[in-house]
Amino acid sequence: MYDPLHDKHPGEGEGYPKSYWAQNSGLAPKADGPLQNDIRVEVAVIGAGYTGLSCALELAKQGIECCVLEANQVAWGCSGRNAGFVLKGSGRLGFSQIKARWGDEVMRQVYREMSLGVERVEDLIADGLDCEPQPKGYLKLAHSPKHLTQLKHAAMEQQSLLGDELSFLSKNELAERYVDDKLCHGGVLYHDGFGLNPLKLAWGYVERVTQAGVSVYDGTPVLSIDTAKGVGYELITPQGRVTAKKVVLATNGYTPKDFHPILNGRSLPVLSQVIVTQALSDSQLRQCGLNTNQVIMDTRALKYYYRKLPDNRILFGGRGAITGAQAESDYYPKRLLSQLKKSYPALSDINYDYAWSGWINVALDDIPHLWQNDENSLFYAGGYCGSGLSFAAQAGARVAQRIAGQSIAAIPMYQSELPKFPLAPLRRLGQWAYFQYGRVADAL
Ligand SMILES: Cc1cc2nc3c(=O)[nH]c(=O)nc-3n(C[C@H](O)[C@H](O)[C@H](O)COP(=O)(O)OP(=O)(O)OC[C@H]3O[C@@H](n4cnc5c(N)ncnc54)[C@H](O)[C@@H]3O)c2cc1C
Repeated sequence: MYDPLHDKHPGEGEGYPKSYWAQNSGLAPKADGPLQNDIRVEVAVIGAGYTGLSCALELAKQGIECCVLEANQVAWGCSGRNAGFVLKGSGRLGFSQIKARWGDEVMRQVYREMSLGVERVEDLIADGLDCEPQPKGYLKLAHSPKHLTQLKHAAMEQQSLLGDELSFLSKNELAERYVDDKLCHGGVLYHDGFGLNPLKLAWGYVERVTQAGVSVYDGTPVLSIDTAKGVGYELITPQGRVTAKKVVLATNGYTPKDFHPILNGRSLPVLSQVIVTQALSDSQLRQCGLNTNQVIMDTRALKYYYRKLPDNRILFGGRGAITGAQAESDYYPKRLLSQLKKSYPALSDINYDYAWSGWINVALDDIPHLWQNDENSLFYAGGYCGSGLSFAAQAGARVAQRIAGQSIAAIPMYQSELPKFPLAPLRRLGQWAYFQYGRVADAL
């Protein structure tokens, strides 16, 4: 599998992974195919995930000419592979941690940006984008009594600081009305998260971008980004060259090795793994007390997340392999399956029908970043740490607004670059050490 810390580009026209989404979402919208000649544009956006597509859509709205260049299929990266949890958040910091670091006003502005991200998705759904949204509700389940106390404390703080609507649920209340997860000690229901089909969402963006007159060149990896005197940049692709005054790097966790100095050594691509089980029978659903389609996550250091899909399969996710070379091993999906069975012993005979993984982008300081060079000609957004489904669209649109010369919220994540990892070549060793720590902490 493509490995961003080793490979020079993510492929050329590679097909979608055999994910549940790719196999059950119908036909992809038509993009423009590989770029086959030399072109000149105002802004070239590299990467057709939520970030790049939302950026292109906003640029088009602002009347700025642009094109999108995608190495493989549209939404081939995380945007077509994720679990479809729409949550008001990004990065790894909770709102109370953001408050502790930067104060009350910044926390409120960050919350507003995250909420605007969710609103973007909801607006598209209201506009007729069919991405199979499920009923609202995000259940956070505590995996130990100690974590239940912490979870309640954080939830109460969020409720009092931001007015979030939420309910506290005992283990029994959860088992009776939502899920009878044997590893859970109680939880919190946030009333605003929900699940959807992430690939259909991304395809909806593609349709809107192409309808806005923007060319989306799929099967077009950018092999190098050269500075061209007086004109900006020249992007070299296998069959054509793009001359652009400005460039947006929307490649996030799929950014290739040494792609550009502005990003080198500033992110840690981490594999997130997902399985989708066989469909559960009515009797299995009853035995598991699986009465909800709400999205669910636990409190472990190495988190697990799951949801019941519309056809009664369970999508279950957690961490995957460390390197691309190990990514296709069935050790990782099997490990997820055995975790699922610990939560639901009644599923002892169930297997999975789909397994896949994708590279999320972890930032050293646990928050996303939007940044640009001193000349205001090269931009990026990324580092969502595994929760960018809705925020990526907000970040992409904010990049476009910045290109248009508009001022955007003055918050740290829009005013500072992704911090460089110290000893960047040893990032994976650090990741391995964190996984060992997480295993021990979660077992205790
Ligand atoms: C298994 C998994 C589950 C997840 N679950 C959730 C979830 O439930 N909720 C949530 O909020 N987030 C989730 N995420 C994270 C979320 O999917 C991402 O934060 C989001 O999709 C990032 O979008 P993006 O556009 O920034 O990047 P991507 O969607 O990764 O797009 C980057 C694109 O850049 C392209 N590219 C890279 N290099 C080049 C090049 N040289 N030339 C041309 N193109 C290039 C890639 O091919 C890729 O398509 C999950 C991620 C994974 C992997």
